[in-house]
Amino acid sequence: MADVAVVGAGVNGLAAAWALRRRGIDAVVYEQFALGHTRGSSHGRTRIFRVAYPDPVWVRRAVEALEAWRELEDQSGEDLLLLNGLIELVAEPEESSQEALAECGLVCRVLTPEEAEREYGLVPPEGSLVLFQPDAGIIYAERAMEVFARDVEVVEDRRIESLDEVSEPVVVVTAGPWARKLLARSGIDLPVVESRETVVYFRLDGELVPPTAEIVLRGHGFYALGDPAFGLKVGRHMRGSRADPDEVHRPDERVVDEVIGWTRERFPAADPNPVGADACFYTNTDDLRFILERHGPIVVGSACSGHGFKFAPLIGERLADLAAEAL
Ligand SMILES: Cc1cc2nc3c(=O)[nH]c(=O)nc-3n(C[C@H](O)[C@H](O)[C@H](O)COP(=O)(O)OP(=O)(O)OC[C@H]3O[C@@H](n4cnc5c(N)ncnc54)[C@H](O)[C@@H]3O)c2cc1C
Repeated sequence: MADVAVVGAGVNGLAAAWALRRRGIDAVVYEQFALGHTRGSSHGRTRIFRVAYPDPVWVRRAVEALEAWRELEDQSGEDLLLLNGLIELVAEPEESSQEALAECGLVCRVLTPEEAEREYGLVPPEGSLVLFQPDAGIIYAERAMEVFARDVEVVEDRRIESLDEVSEPVVVVTAGPWARKLLARSGIDLPVVESRETVVYFRLDGELVPPTAEIVLRGHGFYALGDPAFGLKVGRHMRGSRADPDEVHRPDERVVDEVIGWTRERFPAADPNPVGADACFYTNTDDLRFILERHGPIVVGSACSGHGFKFAPLIGERLADLAAEAL
């Protein structure tokens, strides 16, 4: 029997197991599906990495995460990040990350619409502020999951219906959109809402991996990032509806149409006919914060709200600390 059980082999569960292993703590991960499944929040080839946030607290956390990803690259010998910059498009300057970046001593520069189109193939909305920040780009998400899973014991196709089933003395619950219901059975209230989100893939020819682009639209912004297979991945943040992760979900056609319209205007070099679309789950807190806490022998790791992947190495360490405290 291991010292610690981890429920859920998404990026946060695997990062926690990886951090526990580094501490010499014996952990086992229980996963209800097979590794690599596409029912939760961590599947897909890429995720956005950025340090640009309007809040300096998140900027500093992202800078810490960047160091942790670089360390993981060194330890694993794998390239996990491709940082070719972020273009942030905002209608109102006060919505931008400019001030927070300056407060944290990080560079950014304002581009003209002509520069954005010439240098990055991106046509900004008229009148928007176009901010370029270099410490951003994509995380090779699948590769990161493989690295975190190295030398970690994962029991696949094993669904934990109640934490009473777990015989290990300490349990880390990183069950993504399933966590709220599972924890409720142990009397723990997790204040989150699960939503089904949609991403769309477009063919974008040419060598250049496009910069990550984010348009800030009061929380419902569009985002675009490079995709190694097709070229471009585009989504709309927090656009999904509340959904039950136990049901199988398809991409939301309404959002696919919105994304096609946006991509046609913003990335004229992209083939406007999508080559694919995916559904994926957000587990949302009302203020985008992560819930990383301990209730006796139960450690809760709920870190999503559509922006958690980039912090996975830090989240793994924090959950391992909490689990070690309980041993
Ligand atoms: C469309 C989309 C785009 C995103 N883009 C970005 C981005 O660009 N940058 C960024 O930083 N973040 C992004 N995110 C957020 C990021 O992907 C998530 O924060 C992260 O994947 C959450 O991982 P998790 O391990 O908490 O959850 P999950 O990946 O959902 O993992 C939970 C696991 O627990 C398993 N499980 C659940 N219940 C049980 C049980 N009872 N027994 C056993 N196993 C169980 C599930 O099968 C699942 O494998 C995005 C998310 C989505 C959906």
